Amino acid sequence: MSRLVNINGHIVPAEQANISAYDHGFLYGDGVYETLRTYQGVPFLLDGHLARLRRSAGLIRIDWERLPVEPSEEVRKTLLAADNEESLIRLAVSRGVGPLGYDPALCPKPSLLVYVQPFDQPPEALYQDGARALIVTVRRNPPAALNPYVKSMNLLNNILAAMEALEKGAEEGIMLNLSGNVAEGSNTNVFAVRGERLLTPPLAAGILDGLTREHVISLCLRAGIPCEETDIRPEELLSADECFLTSTTRELVPIVLIDGRSIGSGKPGPLTKRLLALFRAAVKEATGGHARG
Ligand code: PMP
Repeated sequence: MSRLVNINGHIVPAEQANISAYDHGFLYGDGVYETLRTYQGVPFLLDGHLARLRRSAGLIRIDWERLPVEPSEEVRKTLLAADNEESLIRLAVSRGVGPLGYDPALCPKPSLLVYVQPFDQPPEALYQDGARALIVTVRRNPPAALNPYVKSMNLLNNILAAMEALEKGAEEGIMLNLSGNVAEGSNTNVFAVRGERLLTPPLAAGILDGLTREHVISLCLRAGIPCEETDIRPEELLSADECFLTSTTRELVPIVLIDGRSIGSGKPGPLTKRLLALFRAAVKEATGGHARG
């Protein structure tokens, strides 16, 4: 088991992984990233993550063609070198190294980093008992300022939301947008069940198009479960029958308490459990029938 970092094609142990103090990713949060995980040692939805990384890079005008190495090949090499049973992978593209200043011309070459470390599956109790969330006071960055659709290294908005939640004993902070509608969690997308319908905020609410979110929506389509992308008011979330959050690393996490109020029965709801089972079955199918589940 090992923690490795691949810096522009050079793989080193995590403790020896250093970058320049003049890397604009460090200086200005000027870069984009992705978080992936493996199932059966194979990165799940790699193509989707690479496409989103490339899109994010394009939206902040980092020239993908100038990357010194080919990202999917570096992921493959780093995973092979790490030889973990399951890995968490972080891919980062920074503007690169250059003198102080905002002009992108100061950094002629972007950098690609691949971090690989053992992946610890969240405890099964999280899925059986559910988690707590808090609707935080910090609002999600409005798309006209810093579009959440860009998965940027500039994560202070998310960190402030997560800090507020953790300080108040909740596992995740749910942010509203400037219109006061539910946007997303600090690193998750939000779903609510009201009656027969599954609801989730639309991309227009100013959110990241989470790959797990997308997967859940397509599972609903296949299973004939009505799922609607629609604005959700915070009071609708609090009075929902069920709520769950989605992310690559945590799949579907039932939320049983928001702002100290029980959601539905106060236990993970039937549709949440059904969708988690469908999600895990789909992963199993995609990974050749070997995944846990
Ligand atoms: N929203 C935000 C702000 C995130 O950081 C993440 C985690 N990448 C998500 C949603 C969930 O996205 P995904 O399902 O692609 O992991």
